[in-house]
Amino acid sequence: MVKIAITIDVEGYQRAGKDKYKCVEKTIPKLISLFNQSNIKITWFIVHDRWDTITKKFPFFIDKMDKNGELGCHVHFMDKKNKYNIAYDFQKELIGDATKFLRNKGFDIASFRGGAYFFNQDTLKVLEELNYLVDSSVIPGYYALHASNGIIKRKFVNFFPNKNINGIEINHKNNSNLSPYYLSKQNYNKKGNSKILEIPLVVNPILNIDIGCFSRFLSLPISLISAINDFSIIDRLIKRKYSDSYIVLNSHPINFYNNLDIKLKKLNNFIKEYKKRKVEFSTLREIYDDYQKRKI
Ligand SMILES: [Zn+2]
Repeated sequence: MVKIAITIDVEGYQRAGKDKYKCVEKTIPKLISLFNQSNIKITWFIVHDRWDTITKKFPFFIDKMDKNGELGCHVHFMDKKNKYNIAYDFQKELIGDATKFLRNKGFDIASFRGGAYFFNQDTLKVLEELNYLVDSSVIPGYYALHASNGIIKRKFVNFFPNKNINGIEINHKNNSNLSPYYLSKQNYNKKGNSKILEIPLVVNPILNIDIGCFSRFLSLPISLISAINDFSIIDRLIKRKYSDSYIVLNSHPINFYNNLDIKLKKLNNFIKEYKKRKVEFSTLREIYDDYQKRKI
């Protein structure tokens, strides 16, 4: 059985300046009602950090999301001046604040995603200390450099690392895990025995079929938008030997902002089609529980 987890990183669009929350106001109420009508649960990664405090701006949306889905925590490791800072203490402070804020409101927070898909050994340590169960920041094979202003300088494969940037390096390129795994305390790209289950964003099995040798180096995050526009990706995954798997889709309010009604129609159609194919739409927490059962 294929389980699909739709995940949405609920955040403003920084580059829109004073209009940064327009995309949230326009898209989120419609997405909530579409998922309610389709009777599926999704995972909403709620941002709460120095860069964005969606939690305080839109408490009403967050209550509604919680009633019909899972709330996860999403943090960008940026300081007040919008500069990346990935020191352990700073990660602990930001994730700690966000988690406390959400849990104090009575939400059961167990899943985490790093801003820009950043994740390292210190992030793992913090998640363990805060009793998380799931991380979904890793895209196996992915590599990116983000400048300190958040602009992506380089993406995916990077054979010639250039660390002389004033920003962060997101490095999952030595990771070839195709399905969920417990993170290693020594190396977050490897399997190990920490308490945190990584449920990666991955379409690696498809690339394995299509371009063979590159699969170890290159993986694509399945974005919700590309999935609803191209059914064949998930169809192939379901038909092939990888049928017993989990697919994590990712999107953001800004991705729905233009042509919203057309995209909602397509999304509705996407959900209907895959329900017919006996695919289950699940939250990350539900995948976590399913994974525990399969291991026995
Ligand atoms: Zn984000």
